[in-house]
Amino acid sequence: MPREHISADLAQRVREAAGHRCGYCLSPQWLVMARMEIDHILPVAKGGNNEESNLWLACPICNSHKSDKTEAVDPETGELHPLFNPRTQIWKEHFRWSSDGIHIIGLTPVGRATVIALQLSTDPDALQVRSRWVIVGWHPPKD
Ligand SMILES: [Zn+2]
Repeated sequence: MPREHISADLAQRVREAAGHRCGYCLSPQWLVMARMEIDHILPVAKGGNNEESNLWLACPICNSHKSDKTEAVDPETGELHPLFNPRTQIWKEHFRWSSDGIHIIGLTPVGRATVIALQLSTDPDALQVRSRWVIVGWHPPKD
């Protein structure tokens, strides 16, 4: 099925609603060289559409790891759980930063499954960049 076009207006609304940052790793657009991508929370490949309620913002690293995944195994329970939904769920209820500010730690089954699926604490490029952001005081985000 061909992807329908997301209008510039709709994309802008999504960017503003997301606070111009990735819904998964919270990287802000102003620190990411690449343009943040419009993420289909329910992927098009799994029947997701271009309704605003199915769209959020994701950095290219998170979006590429997410791909068409909708669930993953929580390493603590071994059970499948849906991935974090940045539009309807609150980041702080499912994740926290490690004390060094570099790693994202899942607090709930959803959080832990999402950390694994999106490699939020293992992607080497993200870890390298985040560690530099910590040094200059740009990271982790205060909110
Ligand atoms: Zn991200």
